[in-house]
Amino acid sequence: MKIEAEPLQPVVCPQCNGSGWEYVEGRGWRDCSCRISHRSKKLLEAARIPRRYHACSFDNYQPQGTPNDPSFVSQARALLVAKRLVDMSPLNEIGIIFFGPCGVGKTHLAAAIAKALVTKKGVGCLYYDFRDLLKEIQDSYSTSSPNSEFKVLRPVYDVDVLILDELGAMRPTDWVLDTMTQIINNRYNNRKTTIFATNYLDEPSASGEESLTDRVGTRLRSRLREMCKAVHIAGEDFRKKISSNNGLKF
Ligand code: ADP
Repeated sequence: MKIEAEPLQPVVCPQCNGSGWEYVEGRGWRDCSCRISHRSKKLLEAARIPRRYHACSFDNYQPQGTPNDPSFVSQARALLVAKRLVDMSPLNEIGIIFFGPCGVGKTHLAAAIAKALVTKKGVGCLYYDFRDLLKEIQDSYSTSSPNSEFKVLRPVYDVDVLILDELGAMRPTDWVLDTMTQIINNRYNNRKTTIFATNYLDEPSASGEESLTDRVGTRLRSRLREMCKAVHIAGEDFRKKISSNNGLKF
Protein backbone atom coordinates (compact mmCIF):
# COMPACT_ATOMS: atom_id res chain seq x y z
CA MET A 1 0.00 0.00 0.00
CA LYS A 2 1.35 3.41 -0.93
CA ILE A 3 1.39 5.83 1.98
CA GLU A 4 0.90 9.44 0.95
CA ALA A 5 2.95 11.89 2.97
CA GLU A 6 0.73 14.47 4.60
CA PRO A 7 1.49 17.96 3.30
CA LEU A 8 3.20 20.11 5.90
CA GLN A 9 0.92 22.80 7.25
CA PRO A 10 2.53 26.21 6.89
CA VAL A 11 2.84 27.80 10.32
CA VAL A 12 0.93 31.06 10.34
CA CYS A 13 2.22 33.69 12.75
CA PRO A 14 -0.49 34.21 15.39
CA GLN A 15 0.63 37.80 15.85
CA CYS A 16 0.12 39.03 12.29
CA ASN A 17 -1.92 36.17 10.79
CA GLY A 18 0.68 35.83 8.06
CA SER A 19 0.50 39.45 6.84
CA GLY A 20 4.04 40.25 8.07
CA TRP A 21 2.82 43.52 9.62
CA GLU A 22 1.74 44.52 13.08
CA TYR A 23 -0.04 47.64 14.23
CA VAL A 24 1.41 49.60 17.14
CA GLU A 25 -0.99 52.01 18.81
CA GLY A 26 0.07 55.61 18.20
CA ARG A 27 2.95 54.63 15.87
CA GLY A 28 1.31 52.88 12.95
CA TRP A 29 2.32 49.75 11.07
CA ARG A 30 5.71 48.08 11.41
CA ASP A 31 7.34 44.77 10.48
CA CYS A 32 6.04 41.89 12.59
CA SER A 33 8.70 40.09 14.65
CA CYS A 34 8.12 36.95 12.50
CA ARG A 35 9.21 38.88 9.40
CA ILE A 36 12.26 40.25 11.22
CA SER A 37 13.30 36.81 12.44
CA HIS A 38 12.75 35.31 8.95
CA ARG A 39 14.97 38.04 7.48
CA SER A 40 17.71 37.47 10.05
CA LYS A 41 17.58 33.71 9.46
CA LYS A 42 18.12 34.30 5.73
CA LEU A 43 20.92 36.80 6.41
CA LEU A 44 22.59 34.36 8.81
CA GLU A 45 22.50 31.59 6.19
CA ALA A 46 23.93 34.00 3.62
CA ALA A 47 26.77 34.92 6.04
CA ARG A 48 28.21 31.40 5.63
CA ILE A 49 29.63 31.25 9.14
CA PRO A 50 31.24 27.78 9.47
CA ARG A 51 29.15 25.37 11.53
CA ARG A 52 31.85 25.05 14.18
CA TYR A 53 31.41 28.74 14.96
CA HIS A 54 27.59 28.91 14.88
CA ALA A 55 27.36 29.04 18.66
CA CYS A 56 30.06 31.70 19.08
CA SER A 57 28.90 34.92 20.67
CA PHE A 58 30.28 37.76 22.76
CA ASP A 59 28.69 36.17 25.83
CA ASN A 60 30.62 32.93 25.53
CA TYR A 61 34.00 34.53 24.78
CA GLN A 62 35.71 34.59 28.16
CA PRO A 63 39.10 36.26 28.44
CA GLN A 64 41.52 33.69 29.87
CA GLY A 65 43.87 34.10 32.79
CA THR A 66 43.90 36.53 35.68
CA PRO A 67 42.92 40.20 35.24
CA ASN A 68 46.50 41.56 35.30
CA ASP A 69 47.75 38.99 32.87
CA PRO A 70 48.70 40.54 29.44
CA SER A 71 46.76 37.75 27.67
CA PHE A 72 43.64 38.50 29.71
CA VAL A 73 43.98 42.23 29.03
CA SER A 74 44.43 41.70 25.27
CA GLN A 75 41.43 39.35 25.08
CA ALA A 76 39.21 41.66 27.13
CA ARG A 77 40.18 44.56 24.87
CA ALA A 78 39.53 42.50 21.72
CA LEU A 79 36.07 41.67 23.03
CA LEU A 80 35.39 45.34 23.75
CA VAL A 81 36.52 46.50 20.29
CA ALA A 82 34.43 43.77 18.65
CA LYS A 83 31.33 44.86 20.56
CA ARG A 84 32.00 48.51 19.75
CA LEU A 85 32.17 47.74 16.03
CA VAL A 86 28.68 46.25 16.25
CA ASP A 87 27.36 49.19 18.29
CA MET A 88 28.72 51.69 15.77
CA SER A 89 27.48 49.83 12.70
CA PRO A 90 26.33 50.84 10.09
CA LEU A 91 27.87 54.29 10.60
CA ASN A 92 31.38 52.98 10.92
CA GLU A 93 33.41 51.83 7.93
CA ILE A 94 36.63 50.95 9.77
CA GLY A 95 37.05 47.22 10.20
CA ILE A 96 39.26 45.18 12.51
CA ILE A 97 42.34 43.13 11.88
CA PHE A 98 42.76 40.50 14.58
CA PHE A 99 46.38 39.43 15.04
CA GLY A 100 47.41 36.51 17.18
CA PRO A 101 48.54 32.91 17.41
CA CYS A 102 46.26 29.93 16.80
CA GLY A 103 43.38 29.32 19.14
CA VAL A 104 43.09 32.70 20.88
CA GLY A 105 39.58 33.29 19.52
CA LYS A 106 40.12 35.45 16.44
CA THR A 107 37.56 33.50 14.40
CA HIS A 108 35.28 33.21 17.43
CA LEU A 109 35.12 37.01 17.74
CA ALA A 110 34.76 37.54 13.98
CA ALA A 111 31.84 35.08 13.90
CA ALA A 112 30.30 36.72 16.96
CA ILE A 113 30.50 40.11 15.23
CA ALA A 114 28.80 38.72 12.13
CA LYS A 115 26.02 37.14 14.19
CA ALA A 116 25.42 40.29 16.20
CA LEU A 117 25.41 42.50 13.10
CA VAL A 118 22.91 40.25 11.37
CA THR A 119 20.57 39.68 14.27
CA LYS A 120 20.73 43.07 16.02
CA LYS A 121 21.31 45.43 13.12
CA GLY A 122 20.08 43.55 10.05
CA VAL A 123 23.48 44.17 8.42
CA GLY A 124 24.53 41.66 5.74
CA CYS A 125 27.79 39.79 6.44
CA LEU A 126 29.84 37.19 4.61
CA TYR A 127 32.54 34.95 6.08
CA TYR A 128 35.34 33.46 4.01
CA ASP A 129 38.53 31.65 4.89
CA PHE A 130 40.76 33.54 2.43
CA ARG A 131 42.24 30.23 1.22
CA ASP A 132 38.78 28.93 0.29
CA LEU A 133 37.89 32.14 -1.49
CA LEU A 134 41.05 32.02 -3.58
CA LYS A 135 40.39 28.33 -4.34
CA GLU A 136 36.82 29.14 -5.45
CA ILE A 137 38.14 31.85 -7.75
CA GLN A 138 40.74 29.47 -9.17
CA ASP A 139 38.10 26.77 -9.69
CA SER A 140 35.86 29.24 -11.51
CA TYR A 141 38.49 29.46 -14.29
CA SER A 142 37.83 25.84 -15.24
CA THR A 143 35.66 25.51 -18.36
CA SER A 144 33.50 22.91 -16.59
CA SER A 145 32.76 25.22 -13.65
CA PRO A 146 29.18 26.49 -13.32
CA ASN A 147 30.60 29.60 -11.60
CA SER A 148 32.35 32.54 -13.16
CA GLU A 149 34.92 34.64 -11.33
CA PHE A 150 32.38 37.48 -11.31
CA LYS A 151 29.76 35.25 -9.67
CA VAL A 152 32.19 34.30 -6.88
CA LEU A 153 33.43 37.84 -6.35
CA ARG A 154 30.19 39.77 -6.59
CA PRO A 155 28.94 39.01 -3.05
CA VAL A 156 32.48 39.55 -1.75
CA TYR A 157 32.46 43.06 -3.23
CA ASP A 158 28.85 43.88 -2.43
CA VAL A 159 28.29 42.62 1.11
CA ASP A 160 28.19 45.26 3.84
CA VAL A 161 30.64 43.49 6.15
CA LEU A 162 33.12 40.93 4.85
CA ILE A 163 35.13 38.65 7.12
CA LEU A 164 38.36 37.32 5.68
CA ASP A 165 39.93 34.74 7.94
CA GLU A 166 43.47 33.35 7.63
CA LEU A 167 44.88 36.38 5.85
CA GLY A 168 48.36 35.58 4.58
CA ALA A 169 47.98 31.81 4.96
CA MET A 170 48.34 31.21 1.21
CA ARG A 171 51.81 31.12 -0.26
CA PRO A 172 52.15 34.58 -1.83
CA THR A 173 52.53 33.79 -5.51
CA ASP A 174 52.01 36.63 -7.99
CA TRP A 175 48.48 35.44 -8.66
CA VAL A 176 47.62 35.23 -4.95
CA LEU A 177 49.01 38.73 -4.30
CA ASP A 178 47.20 40.22 -7.33
CA THR A 179 43.91 38.60 -6.40
CA MET A 180 44.11 39.59 -2.73
CA THR A 181 44.97 43.15 -3.76
CA GLN A 182 42.07 43.27 -6.22
CA ILE A 183 39.58 42.14 -3.55
CA ILE A 184 40.86 44.32 -0.74
CA ASN A 185 41.27 47.35 -3.00
CA ASN A 186 37.70 47.01 -4.17
CA ARG A 187 36.45 47.01 -0.56
CA TYR A 188 38.75 49.93 0.25
CA ASN A 189 37.63 52.04 -2.72
CA ASN A 190 33.98 51.47 -1.89
CA ARG A 191 34.56 52.25 1.80
CA LYS A 192 33.19 48.89 2.92
CA THR A 193 33.92 47.35 6.28
CA THR A 194 36.18 44.30 6.26
CA ILE A 195 37.29 42.21 9.22
CA PHE A 196 40.48 40.18 8.94
CA ALA A 197 42.13 37.56 11.10
CA THR A 198 45.75 36.53 10.74
CA ASN A 199 48.40 34.50 12.50
CA TYR A 200 51.15 36.68 10.98
CA LEU A 201 52.47 39.63 12.96
CA ASP A 202 54.20 42.82 11.82
CA GLU A 203 57.11 41.96 14.04
CA PRO A 204 57.41 38.21 14.41
CA SER A 205 58.61 37.08 17.83
CA ALA A 206 61.06 34.48 16.54
CA SER A 207 63.76 35.21 13.99
CA GLY A 208 63.17 33.49 10.67
CA GLU A 209 59.38 33.76 10.98
CA GLU A 210 57.63 35.66 8.21
CA SER A 211 55.83 38.95 8.88
CA LEU A 212 52.41 39.92 7.56
CA THR A 213 54.13 42.20 5.03
CA ASP A 214 56.16 39.20 3.80
CA ARG A 215 52.88 37.35 3.23
CA VAL A 216 50.73 40.08 1.68
CA GLY A 217 53.17 42.63 0.30
CA THR A 218 53.92 46.22 1.29
CA ARG A 219 51.06 47.87 -0.63
CA LEU A 220 48.39 45.67 0.84
CA ARG A 221 49.79 45.99 4.34
CA SER A 222 49.56 49.75 3.98
CA ARG A 223 45.91 49.58 2.75
CA LEU A 224 45.04 47.42 5.75
CA ARG A 225 46.37 50.09 8.13
CA GLU A 226 43.89 52.57 6.72
CA MET A 227 40.97 50.17 6.58
CA CYS A 228 41.20 48.50 9.97
CA LYS A 229 41.89 48.92 13.63
CA ALA A 230 44.66 46.53 14.68
CA VAL A 231 43.72 44.28 17.59
CA HIS A 232 46.39 42.00 19.02
CA ILE A 233 45.26 38.97 20.96
CA ALA A 234 47.75 37.06 23.07
CA GLY A 235 47.27 33.81 24.93
CA GLU A 236 47.40 30.06 24.98
CA ASP A 237 45.68 27.94 22.33
CA PHE A 238 42.14 27.51 23.71
CA ARG A 239 41.76 24.28 21.73
CA LYS A 240 44.22 22.61 24.13
CA LYS A 241 41.83 23.45 26.94
CA ILE A 242 38.86 22.10 24.97
CA SER A 243 40.67 18.83 24.21
CA SER A 244 41.66 18.32 27.84
CA ASN A 245 38.06 18.96 28.96
CA ASN A 246 36.17 16.96 26.37
CA GLY A 247 36.26 13.84 28.50
CA LEU A 248 37.24 11.50 25.66
CA LYS A 249 39.61 8.78 26.83
CA PHE A 250 41.26 6.49 24.32
P1 ADP B 1 41.79 31.37 16.20
O1 ADP B 1 40.89 31.86 15.11
O2 ADP B 1 42.46 32.47 16.96
O3 ADP B 1 42.77 30.32 15.74
P2 ADP B 1 39.37 30.21 17.23
O4 ADP B 1 38.48 31.40 17.25
O5 ADP B 1 39.20 29.25 16.11
O6 ADP B 1 40.89 30.65 17.31
O7 ADP B 1 39.22 29.46 18.62
C1 ADP B 1 39.43 28.05 18.77
C2 ADP B 1 38.33 27.50 19.65
O8 ADP B 1 38.47 28.02 20.96
C3 ADP B 1 36.94 27.88 19.19
O9 ADP B 1 36.09 26.80 19.48
C4 ADP B 1 36.59 29.08 20.06
O10 ADP B 1 35.19 29.18 20.26
C5 ADP B 1 37.33 28.76 21.37
N1 ADP B 1 37.82 29.94 22.08
C6 ADP B 1 38.98 30.59 21.86
N2 ADP B 1 39.17 31.55 22.77
C7 ADP B 1 38.10 31.53 23.58
C8 ADP B 1 37.70 32.29 24.73
N3 ADP B 1 38.47 33.27 25.22
N4 ADP B 1 36.52 32.00 25.32
C9 ADP B 1 35.76 30.99 24.84
N5 ADP B 1 36.09 30.23 23.77
C10 ADP B 1 37.24 30.48 23.14
